[in-house]
Amino acid sequence: MSQYRSPIVLMYHGTPDSQPDSHYSIRADLFAKHLGYLKQAGWKTALFKDLRNVENLPEKSVVLTFDDGYDDNYLGAFLPLLEHEMKATWFIATDCISGHAHWLGKPSMQTRMLNSERLLEMHTAGMEIASHTCSHPDLSILSLNQQQAELSKAKSVLEDLLSTQVTSLAYPFGRFNADSVTAAEKTGYNLACTTRPGWFGSENNPYMIRRIAIFSGDSASTLARKLTFADNDVSWKKMARYYAGRAWDKLSRSSWN
Ligand SMILES: [Zn+2]
Repeated sequence: MSQYRSPIVLMYHGTPDSQPDSHYSIRADLFAKHLGYLKQAGWKTALFKDLRNVENLPEKSVVLTFDDGYDDNYLGAFLPLLEHEMKATWFIATDCISGHAHWLGKPSMQTRMLNSERLLEMHTAGMEIASHTCSHPDLSILSLNQQQAELSKAKSVLEDLLSTQVTSLAYPFGRFNADSVTAAEKTGYNLACTTRPGWFGSENNPYMIRRIAIFSGDSASTLARKLTFADNDVSWKKMARYYAGRAWDKLSRSSWN
């Protein structure tokens, strides 16, 4: 049996070619190292929507997701993925297509969003383009009706653009409540993800799928540990505690049995 449990879903944001302004974005050259590691370690990429039929996925499947739809993903992630024959899912806030990520403050190169032509090109190349609402609100403070409006409009904007069904959703800021799950279901989504860390298999609600966050400083070996432990914090300090705990468990089991 493999030491890995899978599938596992990773969350990326921007992939700029210079130092990221955000803790959640990663430099394109470091992202390229992540892809090299995944390939060399035998991980297979799947789309988020493939999680509906998880039994069909190969062992060691990883789902790469990109939130928001940053323009720097085109050069920094989409083209390198194509080159490696890998795939990924993008969650797009539809009001921001060709615009800026307004929630990040002052517009800059790194807040620029993908335009429709690029989204269509990415979809045609086999990437999944999915929903991240229209205006990127904190859904948990909206009424059920407001949430439904955000979810159904974003879905139809993307479906018109791509001429395909859009059934995957990511909650902005990872914030949601019971109404969000109801709204997602009612408006025709069949999978949604949060920012809670953990294995895909540790959550049985298809509208609360867990993801591991990737941060700006994450090296390929940090990524490897994240894939092993399905946790956002894989600092050596925490790892030391984990192994100390395991050694202690072993010790106590052997002395008690
Ligand atoms: Zn977002």
